[in-house]
Amino acid sequence: MEKKLVLFDIDGTLLLTNGSNRRILIDALMAVYGTEGSARSHSFAGKMDSVIIYEVLKAAGLDEKQIAEKFTVVKNTYIDLLKQQMLPEDIELMKGIPELLQALSGRKDIVLGLLTGNFEGSGRHKLALPKLNHFFPFGAFADDAYHRNDLPAIAAERAYSLTGKRFKGEEVVIIGDTEHDIKCARTINAKCIAVATGTYSAESLGAHSPAALFDDFSDTENVIGHIVTL
Ligand SMILES: [Mg+2]
Repeated sequence: MEKKLVLFDIDGTLLLTNGSNRRILIDALMAVYGTEGSARSHSFAGKMDSVIIYEVLKAAGLDEKQIAEKFTVVKNTYIDLLKQQMLPEDIELMKGIPELLQALSGRKDIVLGLLTGNFEGSGRHKLALPKLNHFFPFGAFADDAYHRNDLPAIAAERAYSLTGKRFKGEEVVIIGDTEHDIKCARTINAKCIAVATGTYSAESLGAHSPAALFDDFSDTENVIGHIVTL
């Protein structure tokens, strides 16, 4: 049986946190650096959490060294605050996601994982609130690399440790809501299924030529048909 490794992004793909993530990151930045930088208006979509922290603080005039000195502190502060303050009612699940994950997890030809710009601690909390963590035995996170383009190879290596199977690029499907998800899939010659449930429109995602493109995942059978035949 031909198996596929299917790697899901979190924000904009599985769920939205409706402003709570940004509010909590601002609180962490203020507590540690005394400034929120450009965090109130900066685009977070498809970016690694560490990259976001550097970008918003550089906009406030801090240099790399000043940011790096307190990076571990701000990361831990952000994750702690998120675990305390982000609540189930802050989470909006994207259309069709529970049904899609339930159907995929029941298939012997599918291995599920995460590929996300979240730190593991914050990403796992976002998924714990709507009880989705059990679908994802492993993942590649912002703790693992600074650039999203390095995550597909790391996720494939973790899948090998878990399953004993080395997934070739064409056996990997990366599912995300931004051009950054589409671009990172190319680093291992994986297929990307893009979904316009985040901040990117279907038209703007289409310009980056994903292998497949959906407005949302409400049609479970159709989405699975694409995943297994791509
Ligand atoms: Mg996303």
